[in-house]
Amino acid sequence: MRAIYPATFDPITLGHVDIANRAATIFDELVVGVYDRPLKSLLFTAQERWQVTREALAHLPNVRVELYTGLTVTFAREQQAAVIVRGLRALSDFEWEFQLALTNRNLDSGVDTVCLMASQEYSFLSSSVVKEVAFAGGDISDMVPPNVLVPLCVRISKLGGDCGDIVKNVSVRE
Ligand code: ADP
Repeated sequence: MRAIYPATFDPITLGHVDIANRAATIFDELVVGVYDRPLKSLLFTAQERWQVTREALAHLPNVRVELYTGLTVTFAREQQAAVIVRGLRALSDFEWEFQLALTNRNLDSGVDTVCLMASQEYSFLSSSVVKEVAFAGGDISDMVPPNVLVPLCVRISKLGGDCGDIVKNVSVRE
């Protein structure tokens, strides 16, 4: 059975990686969908988010990472997947995920949503928190996969943020 795991991944965090790892053991194939144009403002371009997510999930042989545009249910159909995987963190995620799951089912009753509970260590981790902490110069090395550190630092420096501890041991190449 093939499932999709759609998200913005701006950037991918260890919480996302954890959900992808676990979904990859449940489903035969997992197509991770990087949504290219959400209404919220983004730090990285679609291409950058796709590239970084791809590198971060390269250890999973049954996982493919694709960029998508438009409706998530359409993407699921295109990928011939009947399941959308989502992660559930604190209680606050529930209402939004519930709304999203029902909306997607109204749009296409042939596509259902499966939510995996966040692992305890990542239940308060989000891309927004990572960006806030990184912008203020905090250490985020235990929040994101290692390949996120340099691109994040480069982007934050360009915006006038302080890389601080982010790349203590990593050289900035750009
Ligand atoms: P979007 O903003 O497009 O929903 P996100 O990248 O914020 O994209 O999250 C996508 C999915 O991954 C959501 O289902 C979210 O609950 C889940 N997720 C995000 N962070 C974590 C985490 N730390 N642990 C488990 N699931 C997570």
